[in-house]
Amino acid sequence: MAKDLSKIAKQKRIKYFLISFVDLFGVLRSKLVPTRAISEMQKNGAGFAGFATWLDMTPADSDMFAIPDPNSLIQIPWKKEVGWLAADLWMNGRPVDASPRVMLKKQISRLEKDNTVLKSGVECEYFLINSEGTAIFDTKDVQSKPCYDQSALMRQYELIKEICDCMILLGWGPYQNDHEDANGQFEMNWDFSDCLTTADRHVFFKFMVKSIAEKHGLRATFMPKPFENLTGNGCHTHISLWDGNKNLFLDKGDKFGISRKAYNFIGGILNSAEALSAFFNPSINSYRRIDAPITNSGATWSPNRISFSGNNRTHMIRVPDAGRFELRLMDGSANPYLIQAGIIAAGIDGMQKKTDPGQPLLVNMYTDHHNYPNLKKLPTDLEKALYCLSDSSVLQDAFGEKNINSFLKLKEQEIKDFNSKDSFSKKGPITEWEKINTLDC
Ligand SMILES: [Mg+2]
Repeated sequence: MAKDLSKIAKQKRIKYFLISFVDLFGVLRSKLVPTRAISEMQKNGAGFAGFATWLDMTPADSDMFAIPDPNSLIQIPWKKEVGWLAADLWMNGRPVDASPRVMLKKQISRLEKDNTVLKSGVECEYFLINSEGTAIFDTKDVQSKPCYDQSALMRQYELIKEICDCMILLGWGPYQNDHEDANGQFEMNWDFSDCLTTADRHVFFKFMVKSIAEKHGLRATFMPKPFENLTGNGCHTHISLWDGNKNLFLDKGDKFGISRKAYNFIGGILNSAEALSAFFNPSINSYRRIDAPITNSGATWSPNRISFSGNNRTHMIRVPDAGRFELRLMDGSANPYLIQAGIIAAGIDGMQKKTDPGQPLLVNMYTDHHNYPNLKKLPTDLEKALYCLSDSSVLQDAFGEKNINSFLKLKEQEIKDFNSKDSFSKKGPITEWEKINTLDC
């Protein structure tokens, strides 16, 4: 039986619930609902006008309802009287197929037919900047190789500790926090889970980091490339496939410790990588991070080609350890649900077709890519990524042509808006449009 949110509210002294959903552009939308109304909302959902969000709807469409998933409940640690809930969107008695959480659940159900579950962990990088968004908050954070800088990390101790304490309280199993490769950049890691839990937590993590940073008088940004000369915000994802307690990607006899199924899954991701970029690098600004010029620190830490390797961070796919692989393509603007959904869709295709990913490349791809002219390149801008998505029968089949078209339509509108005001050049400075539209992604 589903958990009774009204009862839980009494036990936990929750006065209000945020019934939330993420639209196709990754924007988190909510209604704040008093506990007196939660029983009704749990049954019938909170009403929204879909057209007012980034979903492919019109002002004439009927009400859209966000039905909360009680299993996603998070009692907000810094505002305990509020409970946060991830919701699924419904309209006219049917799920809204072109909505991110519904799209992920559809892919999860494809794996469930084989009794398998995708487990994943995400590494969310972010910058701490001033509230105007013009510069890094910590003016002392200037060294050219700032990664793991202890002093710069400890100058943000109160903020980082508060976020980490929240994750401990919520039972996420956080285990490390560090200063990353760019000035002002940080990363916090928590345990991997089934991919729906990871996606819900990913959504909440971004909200939590932004909210707590604001409380401390700072601004947090997950924008893929907020500063031209610094390393961008990646969202590397670690992936494994499970049947009950058995990790189907583990093969101790293999030189990298991964199974044939894992290689096929990797083959599927490599084959669909150009189209997946539309989900994993969905903003105009994303393409400043991919195949970018070298940064002040000496590396971009983001992929420049569609390649895979062993424990080597210069490739799009790395196998850091037995039983899992890391996909390094995603950035901080990627929709948490479409990250997981895209991985499953491409991975299933690889497993079904038993796709051979070829031999892993054990070279420094940042310096040696010239020696591999036949390797496929990643899209150089969002327009090309959208074209690859429209051309991908694998993703069209997995998500349904109509749903992919909804995503493409909204993204093409966005590009049109950008082009009417500015033009994109990787070599040119970051535009005002990118800042206004991506700093709070
Ligand atoms: Mg990192």
